[in-house]
Amino acid sequence: MVYSRDDATAVDEDKLGKLLAELTLEEKVGLLTGADFWSLDPIEKIGLRKLLLSDGPNGVRGTTWDERDTSLLFPNPSALSATWDPEQVERAGALMGAQARDKGIAWLLAPNINMHRSPLGGRHFECYSEDPLLTSAIVEGFVSGVQANGVAVTIKHYIGNESETDRMTYDARISEKALREVYLVPFEAGVRAGAWSVMASYNSVNGASLTDNRRLLTEILKEEMGFDGAVVSDWFATRSTAASANAGLDVAMPGPQSPWNEALVAAVRAGEVAESVVDDKVLRVLRLAARTGYLDGFDGPAPSTTPDDACDQLRNIAARAMVVLRNENGALPLVTSSLDRVAVLGPNAALPTAQGGGSAHVNPAHVTNPLDGLREVFGDSVEIDYQEGVSTQRILPAIPADVARDPETGEPGFRVDFVSADGTVLGTERRLASRLVFMGTVPPGTAELRIRTDLTVTEAGAHQFSVTGSGQYSLTIGEAAPQAITLTSADNDLVADLVKPPEHRVSALLDAGTVAVELRAAVPEFPMMMFGLNHAAPRAGADDAFAAAVEAARNADVTLVFVGTTDEVESEGFDRTDLLLPGRQDELVSAVAAVNPRTIVIVNAGAPVEMPWRNEVEAVLWAWLPGQEGGGAIADALTGVVEPGGRLPTTFPAVGADAPVLSTQPVDGVVDYTEGSTFGYRAYEKAATVPAYPFGHGLGYTTWAYEEITATETDSGAVTVEVSVRNTGGRTGREVVQLYVGGEGPDGTDPLRLVGFASVTAAADDTATALITVDRRTFACWDETASEWRVVGGSRALVAARSATDRRLTARIELKDSAACPWNL
Ligand code: BGC
Repeated sequence: MVYSRDDATAVDEDKLGKLLAELTLEEKVGLLTGADFWSLDPIEKIGLRKLLLSDGPNGVRGTTWDERDTSLLFPNPSALSATWDPEQVERAGALMGAQARDKGIAWLLAPNINMHRSPLGGRHFECYSEDPLLTSAIVEGFVSGVQANGVAVTIKHYIGNESETDRMTYDARISEKALREVYLVPFEAGVRAGAWSVMASYNSVNGASLTDNRRLLTEILKEEMGFDGAVVSDWFATRSTAASANAGLDVAMPGPQSPWNEALVAAVRAGEVAESVVDDKVLRVLRLAARTGYLDGFDGPAPSTTPDDACDQLRNIAARAMVVLRNENGALPLVTSSLDRVAVLGPNAALPTAQGGGSAHVNPAHVTNPLDGLREVFGDSVEIDYQEGVSTQRILPAIPADVARDPETGEPGFRVDFVSADGTVLGTERRLASRLVFMGTVPPGTAELRIRTDLTVTEAGAHQFSVTGSGQYSLTIGEAAPQAITLTSADNDLVADLVKPPEHRVSALLDAGTVAVELRAAVPEFPMMMFGLNHAAPRAGADDAFAAAVEAARNADVTLVFVGTTDEVESEGFDRTDLLLPGRQDELVSAVAAVNPRTIVIVNAGAPVEMPWRNEVEAVLWAWLPGQEGGGAIADALTGVVEPGGRLPTTFPAVGADAPVLSTQPVDGVVDYTEGSTFGYRAYEKAATVPAYPFGHGLGYTTWAYEEITATETDSGAVTVEVSVRNTGGRTGREVVQLYVGGEGPDGTDPLRLVGFASVTAAADDTATALITVDRRTFACWDETASEWRVVGGSRALVAARSATDRRLTARIELKDSAACPWNL
């Protein structure tokens, strides 16, 4: 069955066809390759304006990577899915769509809907869940929210892009059953929600690279699912001309250098690609332009702009997404009136990791930190003793603009000159960041960038400076002679080089006062340049800092320890090799818990980490990578201003080695998905491995009794389930009622899986009823012999649960044996 959509965004196809007929072959092909990194050329004669694309999914970065071009920074996508609240995610999507409109972005490169196959996956933080049904529900919310504002989403990366190691080249071997039952499901949901674009990933699946993969792009995505939008390549992923064009790729990004352009025109003339194939691609781009309001003669979307309360919305979402993993003795929420002195420990309290690394990065106007957030909610009545305790950053910190001055104007920041080979200054900018990224934006003719600043140092002693990023540099500090520095990256992935750059350190003995610093950077041939100038003042020895933190804890009513990862740990471009927190953070928590029984740990990370101390402390709050309002949101969650009502969208293993899939590294170029659908909670269940915290877990701030479950099969073959729950705790709360099936099945092989969920809110002592509808396809499995979906008849247990392991009530249903609809569209 092919899906035929009858939606409000249907476009007048005859009109599109007439516009197409006006174009020459060169004009048509010209539209299908990037004009540069982030845009497609306009075609004035048919009223097509320039289409701008931007990453996602942490926010809308825009077409520059520049601290002056700021964007709202959202909680990381796994945090969004931890709300288990598609309507909430839809509102977040609407906010992102509104900001895209303000930035003139038609085409957003989000969401990332690859699966949490292994916790070691570098982009885990960017994805939603280990479960296809939860991922699908969140995708639908996000797509609807963004596109309601007239901005195209791009569901990515289609498909099998669950690893980052050798991501450009590996071949993911995935069985048809796992593809159908797990990996295609969220893409199907995205198409069902009306996504206007899909991104073809770098990797291959079962031997064919995605940009050349006719079966997946044309047969499954376009023909079976009926996807009518445009397939865009991941950046630099297109490697062929005729093969990719014939496979179903529609747009090759970026440009203008690309295997398409003139070569594609020649391929059409040589008869290797039919012109009708090009026409179909052009229609898909024009359709997207019509839907987003970039094509004259079509009704564009209604006006939309970023609302005034955007920051409040981000703070609220971040707090609601946080997950209470442990809460002994009612340690949380904190009762401010009972506290005099609180120790706040850990580097992430002052400098939180607000986002993961890679192309998802945006430049927020500000990031609130937990320390300031706590000062705000505590007011003057509580004394805070802050100690960093340990350090977790590999490279020195960037230089903040407020301690740096343009040496010529005295304004805050850094003076950047673009200098030609003969020494002519071609242009100058004042920048507010000491780490810079240029993507095709260095003025033509520039041979060298010269960055100068007068740095204020408050302490005399041995200061450390460093340069980061591959390339050739010259660094001058004060009166010292310039030092020539050459840095080479160990990675051949641009993004890995951006996030985990090589570093060269230089030490300088300075008096307190002002020191002139100059860095010269040679411009490389490739049109991307990224490097940084960094600095650290003399600091206390590591052991003294550690001891001071333990001492602060000893003297406090409550100790809040902030631990976490960094964007060098969680990033695109490479996978993790373990799940350990960086530095001595584990040691710090145990040392603090030993001297203060009232120790609460806040984990600032996007993907699971080992928490060996979890049973030594009173409470653990999982705060995710909470975005720009994270500091305030953490304070709200800790004090109960907002219930941190998140539930884990992925299983947290007790130790990394327990994770069912540890093979993110290709072997001889192959990532073999041998586990099929059995990863995440399905695998823990099968292996009887007890995780640290199961899928679906989250305590919130109240308790719930599950009172009754009923299940009824409707005429359409769907099953409606009602679960009534009572709030048995002391405050109003929200419960996420989860519904699982299986763990049994007629032949004992039906694995446990989530088939639905619904959330309810109830005041203390009140009851509420969650209504969950499970359609027939959700009960079906992919029958590999017949190549179709089948519901195997027989009795099934439907289990209402608080998590994959905390099962409360069971109802039985009798399913009839039958085929099910091929696509749940
Ligand atoms: C990433 C994509 C991203 C693109 C453009 C690639 O490296 O895989 O997710 O949209 O770059 O930045």
